[in-house]
Amino acid sequence: TTHTRTALVTGANKGIGYEIAAGLSRLGFRVGVGARDAGRREEALAKLRADGHDVFGVALDVTSDESVAAAAAQLEEDGGLDVLVNNAGITGGMPQEPSMVSAEQVLGVVDVNVVGVIRVTNAMLPLLRRAPSPRIVNVSSTVGSLTLQTAQADAVGPISAAYSPTKTYLNAVTVQYAKELAGSGILVNAGCPGYVATDLNGHQGFRTPEQGASVFLDLATLPDDGPSGTFRDETGVQPW
Ligand code: NDP
Repeated sequence: TTHTRTALVTGANKGIGYEIAAGLSRLGFRVGVGARDAGRREEALAKLRADGHDVFGVALDVTSDESVAAAAAQLEEDGGLDVLVNNAGITGGMPQEPSMVSAEQVLGVVDVNVVGVIRVTNAMLPLLRRAPSPRIVNVSSTVGSLTLQTAQADAVGPISAAYSPTKTYLNAVTVQYAKELAGSGILVNAGCPGYVATDLNGHQGFRTPEQGASVFLDLATLPDDGPSGTFRDETGVQPW
């Protein structure tokens, strides 16, 4: 019997996550559409199914231990998990100047963009460990690259002290998972979608969500001898 690979995408009800879900389905995965709001989840599922995609709903708020545990239990019962895409993310809104952000604001963004990834990853690792070619894909950003921020500060966006450092932190977490999981067969990598028109940036981005999704489809389908602990965008490997 052939193994139908299963993927889970967090924050898949819209934006880049939605297109990652659609793209993974096109590649032959059964895709769990992770979304915290039932209405938005059902709407996304209906649209994806209308386009012929093999998707199922997963109630998932990445800030809730209970929600994450229930999602893992659902997938366990359902037969396992091959690919986890940690896509859910928020900016924390304005202001973003380091002198103006509030502790509450910063902690809120860290909870979704960093701790959320750790919560979901740790809950899913027992399932991923049983998969033949497991992959963990973290949706990061070049605004989290300290090298690019300092070398070409103008080229990687405005001052962003609540959001951008969470992507630096996420990149660091990606490296640590890759180190721990080296030799396990689980490849862990981060990617940047480019500047994509979504609700996250008031649709100011110039790339489409489908274009933004493509780098993550590559990372989700790396060969077994592929890299782990790397960061890339569509143009290639990027510095941390
Ligand atoms: P969107 O705002 O369109 O989508 C964000 C998704 O994350 C939504 O599905 C949202 O759900 C979900 N989400 C937010 N909080 C939670 C939570 N607590 N639990 C579960 N899901 C949650 O943004 P994008 O598609 O642009 O962003 C996707 C990822 O791409 C993010 O990690 C972002 O940082 C990253 N990125 C985006 C770039 C861009 O230019 N757009 C550039 C670089 C990186 P809900 O609808 O319920 O709010």
